Amino acid sequence: MRTDFLVIGSGIAGLTYALKVAKQFPEKKVVVMTKAAADETNTKYAQGGIAVVNDLENDSFEKHIDDTLIAGDGLCNEKVVEIVVKEGPERVDEIIQWGAKFDKEADGDYKRGKEGGHSEFRILHHKDVTGKEMERALIDAVTRQPNIEFVKHCFVIDIITQHHLGYLITKATPDVECYGVYVLNRQTNQIEKIDSKIILLATGGNGQVYRTTTNPSIATGDGVAMVYRAKGRIENMEFIQFHPTALYEAGMKGQSFLITEAVRGDGGILRNKDGESFMERYDSRKDLAPRDIVARAIDSEMKRTGTEHVWLDCRHFSKEKFIEHFPNIYDKCMSIGIDITKDMIPVAPAAHYSCGGIKTDEWGRSSIKNLYACGECASTGLHGANRLASNSLLEAMVFAHRCYLDAIDKVDQLVFREDVPDWNAKGTAEPREMILITQSLKEIQLVMSDYVGIVRNDIRLQRAMRRLDLLWEETEHLYQSSAFRKESRGLHYNTDYPGKSSLVQNIVL
Ligand SMILES: Cc1cc2nc3c(=O)[nH]c(=O)nc-3n(C[C@H](O)[C@H](O)[C@H](O)COP(=O)(O)OP(=O)(O)OC[C@H]3O[C@@H](n4cnc5c(N)ncnc54)[C@H](O)[C@@H]3O)c2cc1C
Repeated sequence: MRTDFLVIGSGIAGLTYALKVAKQFPEKKVVVMTKAAADETNTKYAQGGIAVVNDLENDSFEKHIDDTLIAGDGLCNEKVVEIVVKEGPERVDEIIQWGAKFDKEADGDYKRGKEGGHSEFRILHHKDVTGKEMERALIDAVTRQPNIEFVKHCFVIDIITQHHLGYLITKATPDVECYGVYVLNRQTNQIEKIDSKIILLATGGNGQVYRTTTNPSIATGDGVAMVYRAKGRIENMEFIQFHPTALYEAGMKGQSFLITEAVRGDGGILRNKDGESFMERYDSRKDLAPRDIVARAIDSEMKRTGTEHVWLDCRHFSKEKFIEHFPNIYDKCMSIGIDITKDMIPVAPAAHYSCGGIKTDEWGRSSIKNLYACGECASTGLHGANRLASNSLLEAMVFAHRCYLDAIDKVDQLVFREDVPDWNAKGTAEPREMILITQSLKEIQLVMSDYVGIVRNDIRLQRAMRRLDLLWEETEHLYQSSAFRKESRGLHYNTDYPGKSSLVQNIVL
């Protein structure tokens, strides 16, 4: 397949960009690829909303900038923060024009929520399913755009660079270029080559490397891994944000249900096992302190009292108001026997957001030519060491727009390379036992949760490194046909080759 624009990912970042380039060039084809169903993205699960200054009487760009910088703990790129905050309102207006609906007051003005770390009420939302509504609007708009081809259930494996043309590429190689991708078509089980002049990675987060996460199963950090393997620049991967309040369900693995911070914004109170509200002991902002402080406080209370969760108390809420703002959370709690008007909600921290990622400049350009990145897989400089709540949907839209502006100027100066080879599987074998891969995944999740969790130390991090190195090595070996003697003979009994081969004799190394 050949296309001018290739977009990997169908969340808010990928779809916003795809729509813009497709509208700009109705005669060019834009391909959007996703490894799952069209809307199975982190975007769909966003609850709280989108932070934006659109009430200049009570709020200001300066306040939003300050809040973002404070959360980022000295590592934000101030220019990028200003760009996102100031360009944000235009991007939000755009998605409203494309059909996304945000909740309004009776007088027609938008309802604005407040979340941890924000000094003003500025979170636009659609009940407690904001991301689902934004994803719906984007998919509808993309479906109406005839020059966008949506390719689902295709797993992009690697980006193609000079490495695939036979050149030695290292981190020090200047001018690494991207010519397309290799992708596993899950329907045919074949690996196909896609040539593209411009490629956007919008592959989302990596929460699934942890045992408990609010992220769906697609969030495995693939885009970041591809750029790492291609010797591109990634940064700040240690800054994983843990959401303080994922619903605790005993024995739960995989994606945990999120109880949005907006519940605390509306007055929810965290309590420990003895029913004591504890946030005042950790921060003067109490339950509305930034996420990292609340997550560490909960972690500390759980360790101190030997429990696997704390409680979120909403019993003082008006039932009607709670249902009006949080219908999804109300239904989920009821479905597991928790009536929020009588019972407290068990909550525990879970991996939630990757602040680091593929390093990009202020136009979303990665260190590899013709390769852009935006959304959660990118590290634009907005979040620094910690993301301010509800800034990520905004960042994805602002940078999708900037990638689009830069890409449309370049596309006609680029030509397809004619010498890119098809996927070469020589020297590799398909693992016979998928259980070995599943087992490795479980081990990664345990290592990351136990040693690279909310509170870390050097011994834990070193242990994690050693274990991850071993897992890497084992995974490589699984795919390499590494044993030379491909038979069973004498003392060498190999279940993969139970018979004797007439070809192989003494192997001299
Ligand atoms: C439960 C939850 C609540 C949240 N609440 C909020 C909130 O209130 N406000 C806010 O601002 N942010 C929130 N976030 C964060 C926000 O939703 C995400 O950061 C954002 O949606 C990421 O968008 P994205 O387009 O970058 O990636 P995603 O929406 O995750 O999309 C990633 C896409 O990449 C595709 N993909 C990945 N790897 C491959 C591959 N190898 N091959 C092919 N396709 C691939 C996936 O299939 C998917 O289509 C929340 C996140 C979660 C999980």
